[in-house]
Amino acid sequence: MGQGRNNSNTSGLYGGKRLARKTSGRYLAALVVLALTVAVLAPAQAAHRAKAKAHKKAGKLALSKHKQDGTLFDEKEAWTYLVDQVNFGPRVPGTPAHDKCENYIFDQVKKYCDDAHEQKFTYRWSKTGQVLPMQNIIGTQNWANSPVRIVLVTHWDSRAEADQDPNPANRNTPIPGANDGASGVAVMMELMKVLKQQAPTVGIMYFITDGEDLGPGEDEMYLGSIVFAKGIPTMNPKPTYGILLDMIGKKNTHIPMEYNSVQNAPDLMRAFYTHAKAIGLGSTFPMVQGDQIDDDHLPLINKGLPTIDLIDFDYRPYWHSVNDTPDKCSPDSLGKVGKMMESWFTMPKPWRPGMG
Ligand SMILES: [Zn+2]
Repeated sequence: MGQGRNNSNTSGLYGGKRLARKTSGRYLAALVVLALTVAVLAPAQAAHRAKAKAHKKAGKLALSKHKQDGTLFDEKEAWTYLVDQVNFGPRVPGTPAHDKCENYIFDQVKKYCDDAHEQKFTYRWSKTGQVLPMQNIIGTQNWANSPVRIVLVTHWDSRAEADQDPNPANRNTPIPGANDGASGVAVMMELMKVLKQQAPTVGIMYFITDGEDLGPGEDEMYLGSIVFAKGIPTMNPKPTYGILLDMIGKKNTHIPMEYNSVQNAPDLMRAFYTHAKAIGLGSTFPMVQGDQIDDDHLPLINKGLPTIDLIDFDYRPYWHSVNDTPDKCSPDSLGKVGKMMESWFTMPKPWRPGMG
């Protein structure tokens, strides 16, 4: 992913309460968002019970690998998708590993989505002068006629240089990108398979973007997202909002409320994190303020699509290093994020703007 930044700004959020921004240290403990009260949890819990009941009625619970919570998401399958991507080698644009991984992901999209296409573009990289071919991979489920349409975003490329590696000798080496790259794709690949069986109550566009992490500067990042975002104003039908998954595979992951997301989509963030708590995933998605992150959500926001970033940026010393490897990640984290997304996409009454 992109860059985190400190921000001495303070902002009024959620009913006029002020949340203090960190003024020093990227990883200082953040403040609990007190305004998210128990009062709003009850409807979500009821909705979850209703969902379980509906599944039972439809006879779909028999299909479930997780009968306790009614979800189908299989963390072991997701883990296989993560390891497979890493085994291709660093997915740096212009390399054979990038080509192989493109086919691997696109095959899954073609298999489980209602439609699948690639958005191809090129970029002349300042470091080498080489024109790099890149591909956004896009598929939809239940898209055209849904009243709520969600663009689910993750990047599939991996960073060309381990410029944050503690060892200077490694800083020209591409990163394995187990967490930063493969984890979000792994969750998406399992999710699209699961939601092919269990019809979502929303429309989903799986937007798997390229060139997020080329760098080294921010002026050469988020490339696929910028290309995609140009089409947002004329998309028909229009997407309702977006959710970005990035760096969500770390062992024992905790994904706080990213600052730009809270600023741009406060009601959505509140509803999402409230739902997570209601289904027992409150420790994975704690209602605490996280860092302000520059990431693939910003180009989408800038073109009018409110988009939230689900990211655990507390990943040093492995972030953008050669040590971003599967042993730093876990199936359990992929499973928790995947179950949350599955639950969110199958709610009987999906959240939409204006619901509060
Ligand atoms: Zn990155």
